[in-house]
Amino acid sequence: MLCRRTTYKRAMIPKTARLLQIKPDTTADKSIRADKNWQKQQAGALRKPLALLQQLDLPASLLRPAEEAGTAFPLRAPASWLARIQPGDPADPLLRQILPLAEELQDAPGFSPDPVGDGGARNAPGLLHKYQGRVLLMTTGVCAIHCRYCFRRHYPYADDNLLTHLPAALDYIKADDSITEVILSGGDPLSLSNQRLRALIQQIQAIPHIKRLRIHSRSPVALPERIDNSLLVLIKSIKLQTVMVIHCNHPKELDESVVNALGRLRQCGLTLLNQSVLLKGVNDCVDTLRRLSEQLFSAGVLAYYLHQLDRVKGAQHFEVPEAEAIALHEALRQQLPGYLLPELVKEQAGAGAKTPLQTACKTGPD
Ligand code: SF4
Repeated sequence: MLCRRTTYKRAMIPKTARLLQIKPDTTADKSIRADKNWQKQQAGALRKPLALLQQLDLPASLLRPAEEAGTAFPLRAPASWLARIQPGDPADPLLRQILPLAEELQDAPGFSPDPVGDGGARNAPGLLHKYQGRVLLMTTGVCAIHCRYCFRRHYPYADDNLLTHLPAALDYIKADDSITEVILSGGDPLSLSNQRLRALIQQIQAIPHIKRLRIHSRSPVALPERIDNSLLVLIKSIKLQTVMVIHCNHPKELDESVVNALGRLRQCGLTLLNQSVLLKGVNDCVDTLRRLSEQLFSAGVLAYYLHQLDRVKGAQHFEVPEAEAIALHEALRQQLPGYLLPELVKEQAGAGAKTPLQTACKTGPD
Protein backbone atom coordinates (compact mmCIF):
# COMPACT_ATOMS: atom_id res chain seq x y z
CA MET A 1 0.00 0.00 0.00
CA LEU A 2 2.75 2.38 1.06
CA CYS A 3 4.77 1.51 -2.00
CA ARG A 4 1.91 2.20 -4.38
CA ARG A 5 1.28 5.66 -2.84
CA THR A 6 4.95 6.54 -3.16
CA THR A 7 4.90 5.56 -6.83
CA TYR A 8 1.78 7.64 -7.42
CA LYS A 9 3.30 10.74 -5.80
CA ARG A 10 6.42 10.36 -7.88
CA ALA A 11 4.37 10.05 -11.04
CA MET A 12 2.69 13.40 -10.27
CA ILE A 13 6.00 15.31 -10.37
CA PRO A 14 6.59 16.70 -13.88
CA LYS A 15 9.28 14.73 -15.68
CA THR A 16 11.44 17.81 -16.35
CA ALA A 17 11.42 18.67 -12.66
CA ARG A 18 12.53 15.17 -11.79
CA LEU A 19 15.37 15.29 -14.29
CA LEU A 20 16.56 18.71 -13.07
CA GLN A 21 16.05 17.80 -9.41
CA ILE A 22 13.89 20.91 -8.78
CA LYS A 23 10.81 21.04 -6.63
CA PRO A 24 7.54 22.06 -8.38
CA ASP A 25 6.21 25.48 -7.25
CA THR A 26 3.36 24.27 -5.07
CA THR A 27 2.43 27.82 -4.03
CA ALA A 28 1.70 28.76 -7.63
CA ASP A 29 -0.15 25.48 -8.12
CA LYS A 30 -2.36 26.25 -5.12
CA SER A 31 -3.10 29.74 -6.41
CA ILE A 32 -4.10 28.46 -9.83
CA ARG A 33 -6.27 25.79 -8.23
CA ALA A 34 -7.96 28.46 -6.08
CA ASP A 35 -8.68 30.61 -9.18
CA LYS A 36 -10.20 27.64 -10.92
CA ASN A 37 -12.24 26.91 -7.83
CA TRP A 38 -14.10 30.24 -7.68
CA GLN A 39 -14.56 30.37 -11.43
CA LYS A 40 -16.02 26.89 -11.31
CA GLN A 41 -18.31 27.89 -8.44
CA GLN A 42 -19.43 31.02 -10.29
CA ALA A 43 -20.02 29.20 -13.57
CA GLY A 44 -21.82 26.38 -11.77
CA ALA A 45 -24.31 28.68 -9.99
CA LEU A 46 -27.82 27.25 -9.81
CA ARG A 47 -30.04 28.69 -12.56
CA LYS A 48 -33.01 26.36 -12.85
CA PRO A 49 -36.06 27.07 -10.65
CA LEU A 50 -36.94 23.37 -10.52
CA ALA A 51 -33.50 22.49 -9.15
CA LEU A 52 -33.83 25.28 -6.58
CA LEU A 53 -37.20 24.03 -5.34
CA GLN A 54 -36.00 20.44 -5.22
CA GLN A 55 -32.76 21.26 -3.45
CA LEU A 56 -34.47 23.42 -0.83
CA ASP A 57 -37.60 21.32 -0.43
CA LEU A 58 -39.94 24.15 -1.45
CA PRO A 59 -43.58 23.96 -2.62
CA ALA A 60 -44.13 23.01 -6.27
CA SER A 61 -46.59 25.93 -6.59
CA LEU A 62 -43.59 28.28 -6.72
CA LEU A 63 -42.29 26.69 -9.91
CA ARG A 64 -44.40 28.31 -12.62
CA PRO A 65 -44.05 31.90 -11.34
CA ALA A 66 -40.33 31.36 -10.82
CA GLU A 67 -39.94 30.15 -14.40
CA GLU A 68 -42.02 32.99 -15.85
CA ALA A 69 -40.42 35.77 -13.79
CA GLY A 70 -37.00 34.25 -14.37
CA THR A 71 -37.28 34.60 -18.15
CA ALA A 72 -36.48 38.32 -18.20
CA PHE A 73 -34.02 38.27 -15.29
CA PRO A 74 -32.83 34.72 -14.67
CA LEU A 75 -32.39 33.01 -11.35
CA ARG A 76 -28.76 32.70 -10.34
CA ALA A 77 -27.32 31.62 -6.99
CA PRO A 78 -23.99 29.99 -6.12
CA ALA A 79 -23.80 26.87 -3.96
CA SER A 80 -22.32 28.73 -0.98
CA TRP A 81 -25.34 31.07 -0.91
CA LEU A 82 -27.80 28.19 -1.16
CA ALA A 83 -26.08 26.46 1.76
CA ARG A 84 -27.12 29.38 4.00
CA ILE A 85 -30.86 29.01 3.23
CA GLN A 86 -33.12 27.07 5.58
CA PRO A 87 -34.67 24.22 3.53
CA GLY A 88 -38.48 24.19 3.48
CA ASP A 89 -38.84 27.87 4.40
CA PRO A 90 -40.26 30.03 1.58
CA ALA A 91 -39.81 33.11 3.84
CA ASP A 92 -36.08 32.60 4.36
CA PRO A 93 -34.50 36.06 3.90
CA LEU A 94 -31.74 34.74 1.67
CA LEU A 95 -34.20 32.79 -0.47
CA ARG A 96 -36.40 35.87 -0.92
CA GLN A 97 -33.46 37.73 -2.42
CA ILE A 98 -32.99 35.18 -5.22
CA LEU A 99 -36.36 33.51 -5.89
CA PRO A 100 -38.29 34.95 -8.88
CA LEU A 101 -41.94 35.59 -7.92
CA ALA A 102 -45.14 36.31 -9.87
CA GLU A 103 -45.21 39.87 -8.41
CA GLU A 104 -42.21 40.74 -10.59
CA LEU A 105 -44.40 40.52 -13.67
CA GLN A 106 -46.97 43.02 -12.44
CA ASP A 107 -46.81 46.66 -13.43
CA ALA A 108 -46.73 49.15 -10.58
CA PRO A 109 -47.05 52.93 -10.87
CA GLY A 110 -43.74 54.75 -10.35
CA PHE A 111 -41.60 51.69 -11.06
CA SER A 112 -39.48 51.87 -14.21
CA PRO A 113 -36.57 50.09 -15.94
CA ASP A 114 -34.03 52.81 -15.04
CA PRO A 115 -35.13 54.42 -11.77
CA VAL A 116 -31.78 56.04 -10.94
CA GLY A 117 -31.12 57.70 -14.30
CA ASP A 118 -28.12 55.60 -15.36
CA GLY A 119 -28.96 56.19 -19.02
CA GLY A 120 -28.68 59.97 -18.67
CA ALA A 121 -25.32 59.71 -16.88
CA ARG A 122 -23.60 57.58 -19.51
CA ASN A 123 -20.90 59.93 -20.79
CA ALA A 124 -18.79 57.27 -22.55
CA PRO A 125 -19.39 53.59 -23.28
CA GLY A 126 -19.31 51.72 -19.97
CA LEU A 127 -18.81 54.94 -17.97
CA LEU A 128 -21.34 56.77 -15.80
CA HIS A 129 -20.54 60.26 -14.52
CA LYS A 130 -23.16 61.24 -11.95
CA TYR A 131 -21.25 62.80 -9.09
CA GLN A 132 -18.61 65.50 -8.78
CA GLY A 133 -15.11 64.03 -8.81
CA ARG A 134 -16.16 60.39 -9.29
CA VAL A 135 -16.90 58.18 -12.25
CA LEU A 136 -18.29 54.69 -12.29
CA LEU A 137 -17.09 52.03 -14.70
CA MET A 138 -19.53 49.30 -15.73
CA THR A 139 -16.85 46.64 -15.77
CA THR A 140 -19.10 43.69 -16.60
CA GLY A 141 -22.73 42.61 -16.60
CA VAL A 142 -21.91 39.38 -14.80
CA CYS A 143 -22.65 38.80 -11.11
CA ALA A 144 -22.10 35.79 -8.87
CA ILE A 145 -25.73 36.10 -7.78
CA HIS A 146 -28.88 37.70 -9.19
CA CYS A 147 -30.63 39.83 -6.59
CA ARG A 148 -34.29 40.19 -7.48
CA TYR A 149 -34.45 43.83 -6.36
CA CYS A 150 -31.40 44.89 -8.41
CA PHE A 151 -31.84 48.40 -9.82
CA ARG A 152 -29.75 47.39 -12.82
CA ARG A 153 -31.81 44.33 -13.66
CA HIS A 154 -32.81 45.96 -16.97
CA TYR A 155 -29.45 47.61 -17.74
CA PRO A 156 -28.39 47.09 -21.38
CA TYR A 157 -25.05 45.49 -20.53
CA ALA A 158 -24.77 43.88 -23.96
CA ASP A 159 -24.65 47.35 -25.61
CA ASP A 160 -22.28 48.80 -23.05
CA ASN A 161 -19.30 46.49 -22.74
CA LEU A 162 -16.54 48.50 -21.09
CA LEU A 163 -13.79 46.06 -21.98
CA THR A 164 -14.34 46.58 -25.71
CA HIS A 165 -14.58 50.36 -25.30
CA LEU A 166 -12.02 50.87 -22.56
CA PRO A 167 -9.80 53.37 -24.44
CA ALA A 168 -12.75 55.77 -24.83
CA ALA A 169 -13.63 55.52 -21.13
CA LEU A 170 -10.01 56.05 -20.08
CA ASP A 171 -9.72 59.04 -22.45
CA TYR A 172 -12.78 60.57 -20.80
CA ILE A 173 -11.17 60.21 -17.36
CA LYS A 174 -7.80 61.52 -18.55
CA ALA A 175 -9.43 64.62 -20.05
CA ASP A 176 -11.07 65.70 -16.77
CA ASP A 177 -8.65 66.26 -13.92
CA SER A 178 -11.49 67.02 -11.51
CA ILE A 179 -12.10 63.24 -11.45
CA THR A 180 -10.13 61.84 -8.51
CA GLU A 181 -11.97 58.60 -7.82
CA VAL A 182 -12.89 55.66 -10.04
CA ILE A 183 -15.57 53.23 -8.93
CA LEU A 184 -15.52 49.72 -10.37
CA SER A 185 -19.09 48.56 -10.60
CA GLY A 186 -21.34 46.60 -12.93
CA GLY A 187 -22.52 43.83 -12.60
CA ASP A 188 -19.80 42.75 -10.21
CA PRO A 189 -16.19 43.70 -10.97
CA LEU A 190 -14.97 40.67 -9.02
CA SER A 191 -16.63 38.50 -11.67
CA LEU A 192 -13.68 39.44 -13.86
CA SER A 193 -10.61 37.22 -13.76
CA ASN A 194 -7.68 38.49 -11.72
CA GLN A 195 -5.71 39.03 -14.94
CA ARG A 196 -8.40 41.29 -16.42
CA LEU A 197 -8.85 43.14 -13.17
CA ARG A 198 -5.12 43.72 -12.84
CA ALA A 199 -4.85 45.09 -16.39
CA LEU A 200 -7.80 47.45 -15.79
CA ILE A 201 -6.50 48.73 -12.45
CA GLN A 202 -3.00 49.31 -13.86
CA GLN A 203 -4.45 51.55 -16.56
CA ILE A 204 -6.54 53.48 -14.05
CA GLN A 205 -3.72 54.06 -11.61
CA ALA A 206 -1.48 55.32 -14.42
CA ILE A 207 -3.76 58.40 -14.71
CA PRO A 208 -2.03 61.04 -12.55
CA HIS A 209 -5.12 62.75 -11.10
CA ILE A 210 -6.77 59.53 -9.86
CA LYS A 211 -6.23 59.23 -6.12
CA ARG A 212 -8.75 56.62 -5.04
CA LEU A 213 -10.20 53.38 -6.31
CA ARG A 214 -13.48 52.03 -5.08
CA ILE A 215 -14.64 48.47 -5.76
CA HIS A 216 -18.34 47.73 -5.36
CA SER A 217 -18.85 44.01 -5.01
CA ARG A 218 -21.36 41.49 -3.70
CA SER A 219 -18.86 38.64 -4.24
CA PRO A 220 -17.20 38.61 -0.78
CA VAL A 221 -20.68 37.84 0.62
CA ALA A 222 -22.29 35.88 -2.22
CA LEU A 223 -19.25 33.89 -3.30
CA PRO A 224 -16.55 34.08 -0.58
CA GLU A 225 -14.39 31.61 -2.56
CA ARG A 226 -13.70 34.59 -4.85
CA ILE A 227 -11.35 36.08 -2.27
CA ASP A 228 -8.47 33.89 -3.36
CA ASN A 229 -4.75 34.30 -2.88
CA SER A 230 -4.06 35.83 -6.26
CA LEU A 231 -6.78 38.45 -5.71
CA LEU A 232 -5.17 39.35 -2.39
CA VAL A 233 -1.78 39.71 -4.08
CA LEU A 234 -3.40 41.94 -6.69
CA ILE A 235 -5.11 44.10 -4.07
CA LYS A 236 -1.87 44.52 -2.15
CA SER A 237 -0.17 45.75 -5.33
CA ILE A 238 -2.68 48.58 -5.94
CA LYS A 239 -1.00 51.95 -5.52
CA LEU A 240 -4.21 53.97 -5.10
CA GLN A 241 -6.06 54.33 -1.81
CA THR A 242 -8.61 51.55 -2.15
CA VAL A 243 -12.01 51.10 -0.61
CA MET A 244 -14.21 48.06 -1.09
CA VAL A 245 -17.94 48.52 -0.65
CA ILE A 246 -19.56 45.16 -0.09
CA HIS A 247 -23.30 44.48 -0.23
CA CYS A 248 -24.91 42.56 2.62
CA ASN A 249 -28.55 42.80 3.65
CA HIS A 250 -29.05 40.29 6.44
CA PRO A 251 -26.88 38.94 9.29
CA LYS A 252 -27.52 35.40 8.07
CA GLU A 253 -25.41 36.20 5.01
CA LEU A 254 -22.36 36.52 7.27
CA ASP A 255 -21.41 32.89 7.82
CA GLU A 256 -17.93 31.72 8.77
CA SER A 257 -16.61 31.57 5.20
CA VAL A 258 -17.74 35.16 4.54
CA VAL A 259 -16.24 36.43 7.79
CA ASN A 260 -12.95 34.71 6.87
CA ALA A 261 -13.01 36.25 3.39
CA LEU A 262 -13.61 39.70 4.88
CA GLY A 263 -10.75 39.14 7.34
CA ARG A 264 -8.39 38.35 4.45
CA LEU A 265 -9.45 41.53 2.65
CA ARG A 266 -8.87 43.56 5.82
CA GLN A 267 -5.39 42.10 6.16
CA CYS A 268 -4.57 43.61 2.77
CA GLY A 269 -5.19 47.06 4.25
CA LEU A 270 -8.51 47.62 2.48
CA THR A 271 -11.13 49.90 3.98
CA LEU A 272 -14.34 47.85 4.00
CA LEU A 273 -17.77 49.48 3.96
CA ASN A 274 -21.19 47.92 3.52
CA GLN A 275 -24.29 49.05 1.72
CA SER A 276 -27.65 47.37 2.25
CA VAL A 277 -31.02 47.79 0.64
CA LEU A 278 -34.04 48.00 2.90
CA LEU A 279 -36.19 45.09 1.71
CA LYS A 280 -39.65 44.12 2.82
CA GLY A 281 -39.68 40.57 4.14
CA VAL A 282 -35.89 40.45 4.31
CA ASN A 283 -34.50 43.04 6.72
CA ASP A 284 -37.34 45.50 7.53
CA CYS A 285 -36.95 44.90 11.23
CA VAL A 286 -34.94 46.89 13.79
CA ASP A 287 -33.45 43.82 15.44
CA THR A 288 -32.25 42.41 12.10
CA LEU A 289 -30.66 45.72 11.08
CA ARG A 290 -29.02 46.15 14.49
CA ARG A 291 -27.51 42.66 14.34
CA LEU A 292 -26.38 43.30 10.78
CA SER A 293 -24.46 46.45 11.74
CA GLU A 294 -22.93 44.79 14.79
CA GLN A 295 -21.89 41.62 12.98
CA LEU A 296 -20.46 43.58 10.07
CA PHE A 297 -18.38 45.61 12.50
CA SER A 298 -17.12 42.42 14.18
CA ALA A 299 -16.01 41.31 10.71
CA GLY A 300 -14.15 44.60 10.14
CA VAL A 301 -16.81 46.30 7.99
CA LEU A 302 -18.56 49.61 8.69
CA ALA A 303 -22.25 49.92 7.81
CA TYR A 304 -22.27 52.82 5.37
CA TYR A 305 -25.57 53.14 3.54
CA LEU A 306 -29.03 51.69 4.03
CA HIS A 307 -30.75 52.34 0.70
CA GLN A 308 -34.40 52.95 0.25
CA LEU A 309 -35.36 50.57 -2.58
CA ASP A 310 -34.75 51.98 -6.04
CA ARG A 311 -38.11 51.77 -7.78
CA VAL A 312 -37.08 49.39 -10.51
CA LYS A 313 -39.73 47.60 -12.52
CA GLY A 314 -40.28 44.13 -11.07
CA ALA A 315 -39.16 44.89 -7.49
CA GLN A 316 -42.24 46.63 -6.11
CA HIS A 317 -42.98 43.84 -3.63
CA PHE A 318 -39.74 44.65 -1.80
CA GLU A 319 -40.62 48.28 -1.13
CA VAL A 320 -40.93 49.51 2.46
CA PRO A 321 -43.01 52.72 2.55
CA GLU A 322 -40.82 55.78 3.16
CA ALA A 323 -42.49 56.80 6.43
CA GLU A 324 -42.00 53.27 7.75
CA ALA A 325 -38.36 53.28 6.63
CA ILE A 326 -37.72 56.53 8.47
CA ALA A 327 -39.40 55.23 11.64
CA LEU A 328 -37.33 52.06 11.46
CA HIS A 329 -34.14 54.04 11.06
CA GLU A 330 -35.02 56.26 14.02
CA ALA A 331 -35.60 53.17 16.16
CA LEU A 332 -32.25 51.81 14.98
CA ARG A 333 -30.59 55.07 16.02
CA GLN A 334 -31.80 54.45 19.58
CA GLN A 335 -30.11 51.05 19.64
CA LEU A 336 -26.74 51.65 18.04
CA PRO A 337 -23.75 53.91 18.62
CA GLY A 338 -23.50 56.55 15.89
CA TYR A 339 -20.58 54.85 14.12
CA LEU A 340 -22.65 51.71 13.57
CA LEU A 341 -25.68 53.52 12.19
CA PRO A 342 -25.84 53.40 8.37
CA GLU A 343 -27.15 56.51 6.64
CA LEU A 344 -30.65 55.97 5.24
CA VAL A 345 -30.50 57.30 1.69
CA LYS A 346 -32.39 57.43 -1.53
CA GLU A 347 -30.92 57.78 -4.99
CA GLN A 348 -32.77 60.33 -7.10
CA ALA A 349 -32.21 60.44 -10.85
CA GLY A 350 -30.23 63.55 -11.78
CA ALA A 351 -29.29 64.50 -8.17
CA GLY A 352 -25.62 65.29 -7.52
CA ALA A 353 -25.42 63.00 -4.47
CA LYS A 354 -27.37 60.40 -2.56
CA THR A 355 -30.13 62.13 -0.58
CA PRO A 356 -30.90 61.32 3.07
CA LEU A 357 -34.38 59.83 2.97
CA GLN A 358 -35.64 62.28 5.60
CA THR A 359 -34.64 65.19 3.31
CA ALA A 360 -36.03 63.51 0.19
CA CYS A 361 -39.39 63.10 1.92
CA LYS A 362 -39.51 66.78 2.92
CA THR A 363 -38.76 67.91 -0.65
CA GLY A 364 -41.38 65.59 -2.15
CA PRO A 365 -41.27 62.97 -4.89
CA ASP A 366 -38.78 63.11 -7.80
S1 SF4 B 1 -24.80 41.64 -7.26
FE1 SF4 B 1 -25.33 43.83 -7.42
S2 SF4 B 1 -25.38 44.25 -9.63
FE2 SF4 B 1 -25.49 42.01 -9.34
S3 SF4 B 1 -27.67 41.50 -9.31
FE3 SF4 B 1 -27.02 41.79 -7.18
S4 SF4 B 1 -27.47 43.94 -6.76
FE4 SF4 B 1 -27.47 43.70 -8.99
